Formats: sequence, C-alpha cells, structure tokens
Amino acid sequence: MGNVLAFCETSGDKLRTNALANITFARQAAEKHGGDVIVVLVGKAVSAAGSAAAAYAGKVITVEADALDNYMAETYAPIVARIAGDENASVVCATASATGKDLVPRVAALIGAGMASDIAGITGKNQFKRPILAGNAYSSVDISTDVICVTVRQSEFDPAAELATAGQVSSAEAGDVESFGAEVVRVESSKSDRPDLNDADVVVSGGRGMKNGDNFKVLEELADLLGAAMGASRAATDAGMVPADWQVGQTGKIVAPNLYIAVAISGAIQHLAGMKSSKTIVAINKDAEAPIFQVADYGLVATWEKAIPELVEEIKKLKESQT
Ligand SMILES: Cc1cc2nc3c(=O)[nH]c(=O)nc-3n(C[C@H](O)[C@H](O)[C@H](O)COP(=O)(O)OP(=O)(O)OC[C@H]3O[C@@H](n4cnc5c(N)ncnc54)[C@H](O)[C@@H]3O)c2cc1C
Repeated sequence: MGNVLAFCETSGDKLRTNALANITFARQAAEKHGGDVIVVLVGKAVSAAGSAAAAYAGKVITVEADALDNYMAETYAPIVARIAGDENASVVCATASATGKDLVPRVAALIGAGMASDIAGITGKNQFKRPILAGNAYSSVDISTDVICVTVRQSEFDPAAELATAGQVSSAEAGDVESFGAEVVRVESSKSDRPDLNDADVVVSGGRGMKNGDNFKVLEELADLLGAAMGASRAATDAGMVPADWQVGQTGKIVAPNLYIAVAISGAIQHLAGMKSSKTIVAINKDAEAPIFQVADYGLVATWEKAIPELVEEIKKLKESQT
C-alpha cells in the first residue's frame, strides 16, 4: 500500500486547470495502490491555492518560501522528493506540462523511481498506456520499481470533480532553498490577457498559410472575441511569424480544448498529435484535400482572407444582438 503524491501547478490563489486531470489520474492510481491522494503545492504563496486544492483531495501539503517564487527543477525537485518519502508515496505524478515534464524525471532520479512519461491511461497497478509514433499507436509500459513517477497527459483524463467534504491542508518546511545551488536571476515573460494555451476552453491556431506574422492579427481578433488562446503550427512558429510558445503539436503543446479552430494548417500528423483530442475541431483551409479535414468536425474550404473577416463580423453581430 502506498499513497499517491500529486504535484499540482497553481496560478495565484487557484489551482491551474491542468491540475485537475492530474488529480483524476492520482485517484485512479490511489485505488490500485490502496492509498490516499495527497496534493503538494510549492511556491512563494500557495496557501490560498491550498484551500482550493482541498476541494479535490483529502490531504494537501503546501510548501512556501520566497525563493520558490519561480519554478526551478533544482529547487522544487528535492522538496517533492523529500515529501514523497515522508508521505510514503508509491506514486508521484504531475501533469505533462512544461513544468511537469521538467520536474518529474528529476524527482524520479532523486528517489530511484522508475518513470513513465506522458501517460494516457493506467491499465494495472504499475502498468500504463502511453502514446507513441506521434499519437498513432499506444505502448504498454510496466514499471518494476517500488516507487513510480508519472507525467499525465492532460487531454486523456477528465477534470476531477470536487469531493463531498473538503480535505485537510497542512504545511511543510521548504528547507534551505538558497543552498540548493540555483537561483532565478531574471524572468522575462510575455504579457497577455488571453488564457494560457494549456488551460484555454477555445484555441484559435494559424499555420503557414497565414503567410506572415501581421496576418495573424485577424486570428487574434477572432480569438479575443471568443476569449480564446492563440496557437500555431510549427511551420508558423519556425518561420518566426508568431512566438515559439504558441506551437501546438508533438514537439509543442498538447491541448484538448472544447473548441479548436485550425486556420491554414494542413494537418500533418505532428500537429494532429497536439490537438486531435479537442472536443470540437473546426478547420478552415483553401485545399479541400488537406488532411486536417479528416479530423475536423466542421470544415470550411475557403481562404482565410475571405472566411475570417466574415466570421469576425458575424460573431460581432451576434454579440451585439445579445447585449
Ligand atoms: C520531428 C518533427 C516534429 C514536429 N513537430 C511539430 C509540432 O509539434 N507541431 C506542428 O505543427 N508541426 C510539427 N512538425 C512539422 C509538421 O510535419 C508540418 O511540417 C507542419 O505542421 C506544417 O505546418 P502547416 O500546416 O502550418 O504548414 P503546411 O503544411 O505548409 O500547410 C499550410 C496549409 O495552409 C493552407 N493555405 C495556404 N494558403 C491559405 C489561405 N490563403 N487560406 C486558407 N488556407 C491556406 C494550405 O492549403 C495548407 O494546407 C514536426 C515535424 C517533425 C519532423
């Protein structure tokens, strides 16, 4: 018997949306391991988020220190590893976000655990399903170590529902974080009022067919009307049309919003690997043979130059008629 330690990401006084898929996995793993789900939150000020997390887990541990303001594997991994030992965890998990993918392998190394990354399901106590070949096949992974570390593909697990009774929140010492040998010197982040690509309910993505970065402004107008995040194909980010962190796909972000609008994107398998679990996919492409139409729920064969301004006008009219 062992507990499941779920490292969850926070945003201000809230849990990030991506934490809820991780907690769903943690509940499934806890059933198989006969233990409890324990959520761990690490940061400068995470006690308010701790109360939010208690809606989803019987036990929440918060670890706070000024030096933990910005995520760094060098400071976070030793803390998570220590708490895994203290809490008799047989599974340590996190969402397979940029943070989770960076953190969990280091935790695994520190505690001598076997690791399964980006898993899409748990099929046995120590057995996991994970996508391979750009999501075109699944492999089955068995891990033989006593403690297992896992990153969880957000799009494959439903968001956890709240518990009937909120759990207990306690705090743990951060330790001497300054002595861990790394510090953040400067953070340069892009400011945006749009939702985070990983958490967004709606994503508007553009591809190489947008031709240049200026042309993305029409997609941004559409995104803002819909309260959407912006995404892009790798061809568009590699060409410098839009920032690299907009990239969706096998080597970019894996997203599964309720609505994904792909504009001037051909639908290469590496792009589909990052968005095909979206609930509803809308594709706009001038080529009726583009592979994106094979995964689209709604397809429009048209140039973006014609379709997007018309769509924007119609949405504006609809919004005006509702006010
Ligand atoms: C190892 C590896 C990893 C990769 N990882 C990723 C990844 O993570 N994400 C990713 O996206 N790609 C990835 N790629 C690249 C991928 O193979 C494709 O090259 C890329 O997705 C193509 O991007 P695109 O659809 O924008 O461009 P294209 O394939 O060039 O398609 C452009 C589309 O725009 C349409 N179009 C052109 N003009 C218009 C117009 N005026 N109006 C409407 N439609 C128009 C065209 O019909 C065409 O379908 C990876 C490749 C490799 C080898």
